[in-house]
Amino acid sequence: MSAPVAFITGITGQDGSYLTELLLARGYVVHGLVRRASLFNRSRIEHLRHDPAIGGRTLLLHYGDLNDTTSLRRLFRQIRPTEVYHLAGQSHVGLSFEIPEATCNEVANATLGLLESLRDQEQPVKLYHASSSEIFGAPAAAPQNEDTALRPTSPYGCAKAFATNLCRVYRDAYGLFVCNGIAFNHESPRRGENFVTRKISLAAARIARGRQSELPLGHLDAARDWGYAPEYVDGMWRALQQERAGDYVFATGESRTLGEFLDAAFGAVGRDWRAHVKFESRFVRPAEPVRLVGDATRAREKLGWSAQTKMSALARLMVEADLAALDASPERR
Ligand code: NAP
Ligand code: GDP
Repeated sequence: MSAPVAFITGITGQDGSYLTELLLARGYVVHGLVRRASLFNRSRIEHLRHDPAIGGRTLLLHYGDLNDTTSLRRLFRQIRPTEVYHLAGQSHVGLSFEIPEATCNEVANATLGLLESLRDQEQPVKLYHASSSEIFGAPAAAPQNEDTALRPTSPYGCAKAFATNLCRVYRDAYGLFVCNGIAFNHESPRRGENFVTRKISLAAARIARGRQSELPLGHLDAARDWGYAPEYVDGMWRALQQERAGDYVFATGESRTLGEFLDAAFGAVGRDWRAHVKFESRFVRPAEPVRLVGDATRAREKLGWSAQTKMSALARLMVEADLAALDASPERR
């Protein structure tokens, strides 16, 4: 039997890199979309690309861009994937207030282009769409599940809400196998450095090694449902192994404040964050979501999925990874 073939948009991102590892370990041939940049930007999958048993054999990268639907269509025709994981796009909520049009083009319109391309494929193909808890924004009730009304509070949330609804429409109207994974925040040592958890873990590690003294942050009263990214990509794969397509919330079910995350991260290096954190208004956003906490009952019952790593353990493992990286190459930071 030939190996299953997957295509990942956003393969160079946090989730894309963990998903690639998971799919390769499960015997897939993985194709990924990468964009051209002036500097090579593959650091999260470099270890796979340079493995002679993987790079160019079971892991194949293709230049493209989400906004270039003709080349995407051609790639689908050539590769004939049976599973597509659509993870690419501008993923920073705060930044979406500064570049709303680019965010909506990448997150909303590009998903429409992708759905249209997949609708034209001859072979059956399953699509996972990386939706987000930001679609709920300011929900009427907590916790949120797959039936909670969408009330986004950011351009990013609006774009994800559009794409999520469109996926539902294409599933119902055309019978496409499309799953929305409504993921609450998930973090890891591979999280982008301008997300607050990674900013904190890096700062705790640098402060512990005497390389930083201050940590500028916005409001600390924000709360999130924070989980561990490798567990969430397993949920993505499980969603596409079902007989019927559906939407799934992926979440821990626990809401924690930034202050609690700071306690856990700085506690891991025996420091008090209050001595280092200073308020900086440029990190305050025009609007914030409220009461975001997920109810992942459906994922547990239908997919056998549940979040194992909770906020304190997550913060600790992120700080330990940043400490190890710092100690391995001190000159780089
Ligand atoms: P990430 O680390 O920011 O990765 C985003 C990926 O998208 C990168 O590979 C990036 O490529 C690629 N990309 C961006 N614009 C593109 C374009 N125009 N054409 C082609 N590729 C493009 O994000 P992540 O944390 O892995 O998240 C994956 C997906 O899940 C995103 O859609 C995100 O919005 C969604 N999501 C994430 C979370 C979370 O907590 N992590 C929660 C809910 C939903 P470059 O490397 O070239 O920049
Ligand atoms: P998000 O939930 O996808 O927006 O993830 P972020 O990690 O970017 O932000 C989580 C929360 O932390 C938001 O409520 C931010 O307003 C808050 N926050 C406070 N200070 C900062 C900061 O310096 N950087 C970021 N990224 N977020 C901050």
